[in-house]
Amino acid sequence: MTASKGYAAQDKSTPLGPFSFERRDPLPSDIVIEILYCGVCHSDLHMARNEWGNAVYPMVPGHEIVGRVTKAGSAVTKFKEGDFAAIGVLVDSCRACAKCTIGEEQYCLKGMTLTYAVPDRVDGRTTMGGYSSNYVVDERYAHTVPANLDLAGVAPLLCAGITTYSPLRHWKVGPGKKVGVVGLGGLGHMGLKFAHSFGAHVVQFTTSLGKKADALRLGADEVVLSTDPDQMQAHANSFDFILDTASAPHSLDSYSALLKHDAAMVLVGLPEVPPVVNVTNFIFRRAALSGSCIGGMPETQEMLDYCGEHNIVSDVEVIPMANINDAFERLLKQDVKYRFVIDMATL
Ligand code: NAP
Ligand code: ZN
Ligand code: ZN
Repeated sequence: MTASKGYAAQDKSTPLGPFSFERRDPLPSDIVIEILYCGVCHSDLHMARNEWGNAVYPMVPGHEIVGRVTKAGSAVTKFKEGDFAAIGVLVDSCRACAKCTIGEEQYCLKGMTLTYAVPDRVDGRTTMGGYSSNYVVDERYAHTVPANLDLAGVAPLLCAGITTYSPLRHWKVGPGKKVGVVGLGGLGHMGLKFAHSFGAHVVQFTTSLGKKADALRLGADEVVLSTDPDQMQAHANSFDFILDTASAPHSLDSYSALLKHDAAMVLVGLPEVPPVVNVTNFIFRRAALSGSCIGGMPETQEMLDYCGEHNIVSDVEVIPMANINDAFERLLKQDVKYRFVIDMATL
């Protein structure tokens, strides 16, 4: 077995604390990664506190992982010892279904294997995430890292990055499109950076007045305080696409009223309480309401390579492992600029 240590939640209400555990013995196609940085996604908080009802304890969260390969199995071709490698939200899938074979493993018809809190397809033990010293993963589910990027800023690309890149690409956001991003947090600031980079006219919606200057710096053409009805009304019927990243329960209606005819609103935020939808805003615009889940292996690598070419990383606040519980509380207060990343050397 592979000895590992990390920080775990033991139940939904106690703070995360130090925890030792074992991972599987590496297979010939596996790499062992010494984790250098792990991002703190709001999903980690939802999961640790069992807000989605599927928690398994003890739980080591973390699915925005960047590290160094310390061991490469005999069948590994993509990595050698000493290389940097990255892992996101999924670490395995059936590899044979209609979705896996086209590289959309996140929609695997047999269910993807999440980085933490589900049975490992190899040995059945519960997967443990990246708030830890190392990870054992099949090289098929690990990504190469562009050499020019700051590693701490790369970690959040593995979830916040791909979760926003994928729907923006799928709905062909680019020049001539007016795009809204709801929420300026981890996902939101990456959605803003990508939509701006793709050439769209980007409007950042925020509930936090104090984030306006940052939104403009990060690439927004306009910033709208979503709690101000007059500011919202000024954009009625004007958007081609709105990406909703909000983590807390909220009404969609004030945003969907801003869609143009035949426009689309895509939800990636997954609050504990699902939204109630005013269907008339969609019916009378023939507008689409959709969701989107992270991205598959090829698209995640494409996104990382795009970030390398365009010098895009996440804006991060690097924290020591011991500050994780404080970071969770700050996430709930919308006080993150714009992703916490754990320096795993502090474990
Ligand atoms: P985060 O960093 O905490 O950011 C969430 C942001 O949502 C906040 O900063 C805030 O921005 C905004 N917000 C909070 N409450 C709001 C409200 N009541 N109304 C409108 N906006 C509100 O969280 P994150 O890590 O980006 O994650 C966001 C959500 O996406 C979470 O629910 C997470 O579980 C989910 N997620 C989904 C996927 C997927 O594959 N679909 C992947 C990763 C994460 P302002 O201060 O600017 O208002
Ligand atoms: Zn995530
Ligand atoms: Zn599959």
